[in-house]
Amino acid sequence: MRALINIDYTNDFVAEDGALTCGEPGQAIHDRLLELTRQFYEAGDFVAFTIDRHEAGDAFHPENDLFPPHNVTGTNGRHLYGELEVLYQSIKEEQTVYYTDKTRYSAFKGTDLEMKLRERGITELHLVGVCTDICVLHTAVDAYNMGFDLVIYKDAVASFNPAGHEWALSHFSNTLGATVI
Ligand code: ZN
Repeated sequence: MRALINIDYTNDFVAEDGALTCGEPGQAIHDRLLELTRQFYEAGDFVAFTIDRHEAGDAFHPENDLFPPHNVTGTNGRHLYGELEVLYQSIKEEQTVYYTDKTRYSAFKGTDLEMKLRERGITELHLVGVCTDICVLHTAVDAYNMGFDLVIYKDAVASFNPAGHEWALSHFSNTLGATVI
């Protein structure tokens, strides 16, 4: 069984005026990411949206010293980018669609994503979203350590950092044994 994990494809991470945007590389994967999401959904596969969430004024979050405020609760920056928000709104009530807030880079940290996957007998995770070398990377590392097989779409992940993007793609295949397609 397989699942698609949609990571952080929100306005703050993708839109031109996003608080922590990947910019053009993030926008360029929109159509492919949308197509994959629709394909997995229509095939009856589990589709998970794992979305960064921060509280305004949280003085203790470790990202405070690293990044400007982003994906703050209740802001437009947390909405999914482009047509993905439209698709999500139309399928979100389905049993095969799942959405979880996350507060760290990895989609597994502090969430019940692993339980949702194990309940369904899912062993193969397909990752899309941003940023390739931050949240996608940390999610992939955790998934590898939990024994999941990984497939990563190089035309549906993106980063603001071209060198980090390329490095992460090689790490996925050479070190995590992922299929990078
Ligand atoms: Zn964050």
